[in-house]
Amino acid sequence: MSATGVSLACVSAAYRGTEVLHAVDLAVARGELLVVLGPSGAGKSTVLRVVAGLEPVTGGRVSIAGRDVTALRPGRRNVSMVFQSYALFPHLTVAENIAFGLEVRDVPRAAARERARAAAETVGCADLLGRRPGQLSGGERQRVALARALVREPDVFLLDEPLSNLDQALRVEMRAELRALHDRLGATMVHVTHDQTEALVLADRIAVLRDGRVEQVGSPDEIWRRPASVFVARFVGSPAMNLLPAAALTPAGDPPPAAGGDTRLGFRPEAVGLADPASTGEGGAALVDRVEVIGEDAYAYLTVPGGHPVVARVPASRRPAPGAAVRVTVRWPDVHVFDATSGRRVDPA
Ligand code: ADP
Ligand code: MG
Repeated sequence: MSATGVSLACVSAAYRGTEVLHAVDLAVARGELLVVLGPSGAGKSTVLRVVAGLEPVTGGRVSIAGRDVTALRPGRRNVSMVFQSYALFPHLTVAENIAFGLEVRDVPRAAARERARAAAETVGCADLLGRRPGQLSGGERQRVALARALVREPDVFLLDEPLSNLDQALRVEMRAELRALHDRLGATMVHVTHDQTEALVLADRIAVLRDGRVEQVGSPDEIWRRPASVFVARFVGSPAMNLLPAAALTPAGDPPPAAGGDTRLGFRPEAVGLADPASTGEGGAALVDRVEVIGEDAYAYLTVPGGHPVVARVPASRRPAPGAAVRVTVRWPDVHVFDATSGRRVDPA
């Protein structure tokens, strides 16, 4: 068992009496990159603020590097936070911005300058040290904010949607750099995002947060292959996983024992096969509403009897025509079974 980098034990937090984190348990191993994933308002930033000490807890305990920090003020917790807005000082140079975190800690000027330079080098912005934030691109500001977090040599990095202000191409590039930086430093990182692709690509493990509760924690592979609930299943993956009442579809093969009772069947667009409507057997009739072609792939938006929507991913070269009748086939091994009431996964381990 690896050493603990950060742990939240039964942590609750509230804003003006309204609880927004409800008994959150979360353990981040030392050197791990944990991504907290969830929609806007789920409580992701609050989790980071609670770890940083910027927000008090109303219950539970927070530990960093094995030390209970619940009662410690932010300056004593040895964490660095990178905000979505970067929060750089416009009137300071890049070098001064990076060194700022050290100077308020009484690090001598020359030593601070040297450490700022080294941090800038690590994240690839050493050529910008004399500039001011106003003269930097979004990606360059992002690097400076990272360098400022780095220079303090914290026990844990807290990154609050640090890539969301970048355009798509740069986000993809910085995402890879951030992962490489993590691996090089062996740092403990908690990275917050609402972007499921970013989470899947970046994370050692993902914690899915919903309405202030942890819905599931697992490796990207586990989150993708064994989503613990309808919420996780549909939040991760685009277009979202199809979800039908069990009665609306007959998948091919032998059903798992859990498939009885009042359940919902989930299956990803890539698990849907389209067959000739005249063919018989498993699956069911469907009507093609519309088709989107994205390069080599096509997404067919279908309606099955009962009015349920189903999305199928097919090769663009084999896409059906809008308005066509087709037959939809899905295989049991590709089907996720969820309890209709609780939304929790019910198939056996
Ligand atoms: P996320 O980062 O996942 O978007 P937040 O942690 O910012 O979510 O917010 C969680 C909940 O707390 C939301 O319902 C939000 O409206 C509320 N909230 C966040 N900050 C404040 C605040 N300063 N005062 C009151 N409510 C807040
Ligand atoms: Mg937030």
